[in-house]
Amino acid sequence: MSKPVLGIIGGGQLGSMLATAAKKIGIKTVIFCDDQDAPAQNFSDKFICGKYDDQNIIDEFMNAIDIATFEFENISYETLNKINNIKSVLPNPSINKIVQNRLFEKDYINKLNIRTTQYVSIKSEKEVYINKEFLPGLLKTTTLGYDGKGQYKINSVDDLKNLNIDFTKEYILEKLVKLKKEISVVITRFKNQEYEIYDPIENIHEDQILKYSKIPADINEKVLEQSKKYARAIAEELNYIGTLCVEFFIDKNDNLYANEIAPRVHNSGHLTINAYNISQFENHVRAVCNLDRVKLNKISNAEMINIIGDQITIYRKKKYASNEFFFDYLKKETKYKRKMGHLTTLIK
Ligand code: ADP
Ligand code: MG
Repeated sequence: MSKPVLGIIGGGQLGSMLATAAKKIGIKTVIFCDDQDAPAQNFSDKFICGKYDDQNIIDEFMNAIDIATFEFENISYETLNKINNIKSVLPNPSINKIVQNRLFEKDYINKLNIRTTQYVSIKSEKEVYINKEFLPGLLKTTTLGYDGKGQYKINSVDDLKNLNIDFTKEYILEKLVKLKKEISVVITRFKNQEYEIYDPIENIHEDQILKYSKIPADINEKVLEQSKKYARAIAEELNYIGTLCVEFFIDKNDNLYANEIAPRVHNSGHLTINAYNISQFENHVRAVCNLDRVKLNKISNAEMINIIGDQITIYRKKKYASNEFFFDYLKKETKYKRKMGHLTTLIK
């Protein structure tokens, strides 16, 4: 059987790394993105540029591929569903309906008896006053937020006066957890009860953007096992195919909270490219294209630094040692707070 052509919706750095991993195992890729400058076109076999709701472009994309996947979860469900009716989209778009909305996502996780932060739905300024017991907290838009976008820290209701929050949008108010640590678990599910699971990754955020990741995470055995168990339970319950990441918080008493489900490869998993025999990207391609599962093997401990904004100019000029791996996302425009590249260092 000839290998399928993989369509990837979205053309950022995750799309680039998926396309690179696919090429390595002989899978051709087609990137579909609404940004003419999408960096992933530098790494794929074909690039289709157009709006995600343009039927002609969707048709062109469907004709060019056998299977579709996506690099970000905020694509409209209609588009994904249209494609899924003709060619299969993996993971299944029904998952996006859940995770595109922070309230549905947290309700779903709680139903699996996995602890989340305490939260409440907020539809007006008045409701913040009514739910004061959730302060200090973070007010987050229920949809379309990422890298801390659409989030407001509210210590007390007095803060509302200065923040100018647009209450025509819907929000979730989450009680602030006193964080000891943040970790993530990346898992690739192939079919029922068949997984490859990476060791928990320890993450440090700055201004709500991931800055630094490392393995092994400095956590106790109980948290390690619990986080992997939860990631497996979520992937199984979603009947998931492909790579998924669960972000967790750990508080001062070593309680574990699931924060978010990313139905895709994840920034914290970039170090898997160099630290494992099979990266999160290759495993995603393998799972969605129904290729063989290869037993996962950790090669080395590692740390990764995200290169954000104009820091990239410094890294572009640096010389690197043999245990350092610099990735330039080749983004045309350098923007404040934009992820521009990363550096993985393999460590003992
Ligand atoms: P995003 O979709 O932007 O990644 P998250 O909900 O993951 O949104 O929030 C980004 C970061 O903000 C988290 O990784 C964490 O550092 C911090 N954060 C978010 N919610 C809370 C909370 N309830 N308590 C403490 N820190 C939080
Ligand atoms: Mg997050």
